[in-house]
Amino acid sequence: MPSPLAAFIDRAQRLFVLTGAGCSTDSGIPDYRDADGQWKRTPPVTYQAFMGEPATRQRYWARSLLGWPRFGQAQPNGTHAALAALEARGQLEVLLTQNVDRLHQRAGSRAVIDLHGRLDQIRCMGCELRIPREDFQHLLLAHNPGWDQLEAAQAPDGDADLDDMDFSSFQVPACPHCGSILKPDVVFFGESVPRDRVAAVQAHLAQADAVLVVGSSLMVYSGFRFVQAAASAGLPVAALNLGRTRADALLNLKIAEPCAEALAFLLPA
Ligand SMILES: [Zn+2]
Repeated sequence: MPSPLAAFIDRAQRLFVLTGAGCSTDSGIPDYRDADGQWKRTPPVTYQAFMGEPATRQRYWARSLLGWPRFGQAQPNGTHAALAALEARGQLEVLLTQNVDRLHQRAGSRAVIDLHGRLDQIRCMGCELRIPREDFQHLLLAHNPGWDQLEAAQAPDGDADLDDMDFSSFQVPACPHCGSILKPDVVFFGESVPRDRVAAVQAHLAQADAVLVVGSSLMVYSGFRFVQAAASAGLPVAALNLGRTRADALLNLKIAEPCAEALAFLLPA
């Protein structure tokens, strides 16, 4: 007998998969929220604060400088591998991820939409120049010698915990091309997902015959709305998540198990 989850996946021909932070915790990237969907720590920096306050950018980049080496070295885990195998089986319409770590792509998934952008890239808010985050790390260090020697705890999004530090001497490099503000190429809290990206997701959803949520509590509306739309359209929706999700009332199937174990049947024997 296949498990209920295996039966759900086997029935689908064009599965719309939505993934969240729970996919990456096994890769050493911590989750923001606990099993009840509550913040485990202080909420992250908002778009408005990042763009409007130089002190916020100093604090953000100082913490990012410390957190990046570990975040940048994170490796895909069994959940990423299983979802790449699902695509290889020809049953995937698209994989929409709320994660910004690019681990699905590193595991071999190709039909991926990074709903909230990608942390391995920097974007100039003036001229749209893109810079690899790894290159920007060298620029940050060149402007702030010695800062990489500080020890700090790891937080989500390559951030690091630095309580009560003075960041006023931290130098934040501007765009080398136009001098404008550089920002991670991710959608911050308080910022909208680009319209063309939303339209691409909707087009895939219209082609899908089922929805599978993996490792997300769907507490962020930008992801939840697609599950809501799928349920309204009558698509079967399943969720694999250890805690409760915002969509629990809309689900046809809920599996509260660790993602990698529950999806291991997809991996080639
Ligand atoms: Zn620029």
